Amino acid sequence: MNKIEVKNISFSYNNQEPVLKHVSFNVKEGSYVSIVGHNGSGKSTLARLLIGLIAPIEGNITIDNELVTYKTIRNIRKKIGLVFQNPDNQFIGATVEDDIAFGLENKQIERQKMQEIVKNYAKRVGMNEFLDKEPSRLSGGQKQRVAIASALALAPEILILDEATSMLDPKGKSDIKNLVFEMKKENPNLTILSITHDVEEAFLSDEVIVINKGEVAFKGKPEEVFSNRTALESLHLGMPFILDLKEKLSEKDIDINKCSSLEEIAEVLCPSR
Ligand code: ADP
Repeated sequence: MNKIEVKNISFSYNNQEPVLKHVSFNVKEGSYVSIVGHNGSGKSTLARLLIGLIAPIEGNITIDNELVTYKTIRNIRKKIGLVFQNPDNQFIGATVEDDIAFGLENKQIERQKMQEIVKNYAKRVGMNEFLDKEPSRLSGGQKQRVAIASALALAPEILILDEATSMLDPKGKSDIKNLVFEMKKENPNLTILSITHDVEEAFLSDEVIVINKGEVAFKGKPEEVFSNRTALESLHLGMPFILDLKEKLSEKDIDINKCSSLEEIAEVLCPSR
């Protein structure tokens, strides 16, 4: 079943040149879809359209078969957990604890249960020691962790991440990536749409959509999309490390095509380890 359907969307700011042109794609329930593309290609605009902050000039979006309009969006947003690149725009609470609790209060979750959920998610993003701190005093990466905890605590049906880990260091990015995969394991119906520059993350998703100059340049399984090296280089997108390595080794007649992880590659290269 399609959770999200984007049909022939076009959008322009203030009647200027369209920044999205005839964009169409579907996101199946329970799938993890990455949207990649370099700066200015229209990815964040797409996220804003999905949550009804702006409306398309052409085409439409449906979520659970319901058309996204200014009338339906309030209801539809209850299903969506959203994390923007700049978390400053998302903080509402005076403390980290209040902030993670905010959406839960709106859902009228009982107090003790709510405190458990807040503590659990704060811990899962590594922010349990900051519960009494003011969000505005945190570092960019810490703010992103809190924003992610706030979104996940609501147990959304759809998680939309817009460069949600851009301010984290590589270890922090990897921790959050693992957390999202854990969430997915716990709830296989969770649908994830991640706007990211991180080709390594995109490579792990179920489907990749490449946006270039407001248009869908490619979409498909990560192996298909990322095997088109020339096309990706023309879009200034890198190649996932594992594919790059496979290609370089095959130039030296070392075949690692059967390997699906770095550990398996290491075993082929150094069998006596
Ligand atoms: P991305 O997320 O891929 O970096 P954006 O969706 O942010 O791309 O931007 C796409 C284009 O729309 C860019 O040319 C950007 O300058 C323009 N744009 C984004 N937001 C606004 C806005 N609020 N008003 C006018 N133009 C905008």
